[in-house]
Amino acid sequence: MTQHNIQNRVVLLGTKGGPAIRPGTGMPTSTLVQMDGLTVLVDAGLGAARGVCDAGVALEALDAIIITHLHSDHYLELGPLLHTAWTAGLKRPIKVIGPEGLADYWRHFLAAMQFDVDLRLRDEGRPDLAALADISVLEEGAQPLGPLTLHALRNEHPPIHDSYALRFDGADHRVVLSGDTAPIEAMVPFAQGADLLVHEAMLSAGIDALCARVGNGDDRLRHHLERSHAPADQVGAIATQAAVKHLALNHLVPVDDPNFTEAHWVAEVRRTWDGPLHVGHDGLEILLPASDT
Ligand SMILES: [Zn+2]
Ligand SMILES: [Zn+2]
Repeated sequence: MTQHNIQNRVVLLGTKGGPAIRPGTGMPTSTLVQMDGLTVLVDAGLGAARGVCDAGVALEALDAIIITHLHSDHYLELGPLLHTAWTAGLKRPIKVIGPEGLADYWRHFLAAMQFDVDLRLRDEGRPDLAALADISVLEEGAQPLGPLTLHALRNEHPPIHDSYALRFDGADHRVVLSGDTAPIEAMVPFAQGADLLVHEAMLSAGIDALCARVGNGDDRLRHHLERSHAPADQVGAIATQAAVKHLALNHLVPVDDPNFTEAHWVAEVRRTWDGPLHVGHDGLEILLPASDT
């Protein structure tokens, strides 16, 4: 299961916030974490399977999949990815950890695909697909994950209650993923001293234009964004207070407005953070430095 020659790294596979894709946009959320020989996919938004392969990882090599919350931009492709891994040769169960409700999603996905799945079982002699997802419920606290320790922190992403930030503690590295969240004070101790904090970010100046373009004619979209997501300058402040070594921006909103470029993101975060900064784009690989010892 664990391969010790794998480079410790995080790859941002899909970096746009929200479920819609349009010409020129990147893909919704999924992130690959490889640490101490363990390969973990965090979230499985649309494009996740393609992203994993483009990162040079075979789908059947995934050791675990963690879903941070049940917004579609974080799990729409979970079933298709597992089905595709199965057709690519997956024979052992993949650990799938996510909020209550994920087992129902998987059961319904299998029902929707029953004709095809039954056909391949009979016709191609494949193993039982249903058994290849070993699903457990994600809850606050720590649990072992292969050689790593996985910590989950409930974040603030109303109206969803079961939404989590994740921390992976390995032999030499600590990586924190914020999940979708408003800025929360608890993120500072949770991310303290991390080698890398991957935090969602929103460019406040871009929200007006976004709401005018795709809003539903009232303030609900703006209200959701403002109470459930994190302005980029506040993300920088969290990184500074937590004294992390690297900060990466992910789940970018807006992502497809030509009036807002990488320079705008950098300028906003630089008000509060002067350390190493990565503005996320699909396929961005961040290597975790080798230990000094
Ligand atoms: Zn999201
Ligand atoms: Zn969300």
